[in-house]
Amino acid sequence: MQVFKTNKNLQASLLKYKIKGKTIGFVPTLGALHEGHASLVERSKRLSDITVCSIFVNPAQFNDPKDLIKYPRTLKEDKNLLEELKTDILFIPSKDEIYPADLQLEIDVDFGSLFTVMEGEHRPGHFDGVVKVVKRLLDIVCPDHLYMGQKDFQQFSLIQHMIDELEIPTQLIVCKIKREPNGLAMSSRNERLTKENREKAAIIYKTLKAVKRKAKDKDFEQLKEYAMDKLSIENFKPEYFEIVDGRTLQSVNDYEDSDYIVACAAVWAGDIRLIDNIILKKEQ
Ligand code: AMP
Repeated sequence: MQVFKTNKNLQASLLKYKIKGKTIGFVPTLGALHEGHASLVERSKRLSDITVCSIFVNPAQFNDPKDLIKYPRTLKEDKNLLEELKTDILFIPSKDEIYPADLQLEIDVDFGSLFTVMEGEHRPGHFDGVVKVVKRLLDIVCPDHLYMGQKDFQQFSLIQHMIDELEIPTQLIVCKIKREPNGLAMSSRNERLTKENREKAAIIYKTLKAVKRKAKDKDFEQLKEYAMDKLSIENFKPEYFEIVDGRTLQSVNDYEDSDYIVACAAVWAGDIRLIDNIILKKEQ
């Protein structure tokens, strides 16, 4: 695996592959890699000729400075995992490489309500940082394929919108959610859960699955109340439970209202914030 810290060296290496007509797959991450990230790398290894994974703990997307400080950093283990997966290139840029002082990064896209609902409402500034870093990384890597997880449903929806609006020649490939044996969606934050809360966090996926089973017959307002109630166990506090259109992320009232419906949840488990989602309906 080649490891690059500067845009210049990365781009020089990528150019050699691009000249030979090789396709580039790109997996951007914050590090503290787990099987969820690995599944993205594996998908890229199958579909793209060259796989680039980046690790950059992007300060711009942390709305809570304490969360940034506590975010796990496990570069040695991450490198080992990426080696095992036969990743071609690891990119670990510094903050100055991503945000040089003279860079004017204006993203002229109207995200509308994609930006303001759910995570956008509860984590002000978070998506400004996400969009900024992904645009910057896409400008640097210029990949044919970008691999992102369904786990961050709103995030990939925003990025798809940006790709469409700016006509970026990169195909977004969304990979399904990897879960722990008890159903908890894998996340770098899970390591910070107490043992007890990690077990109890199974309630999130259980609730999402129960909502899916009931979705055809129940009014969605009732379903959301049911889910909020189910998620309100000791030490746990649901921040939101929304049932939305999978494209616009606008609330949907019942099963017949849209052909693409997803239920999304954010839940505090002690002082750790977890998100998850399930597709209730997708007809196409
Ligand atoms: P992060 O390092 O948390 O920014 O995640 C990097 C990428 O991995 C994002 O596209 C995430 O959606 C994806 N990802 C995170 N957790 C999972 C998971 N449990 N299953 C699949 N993909 C994931």
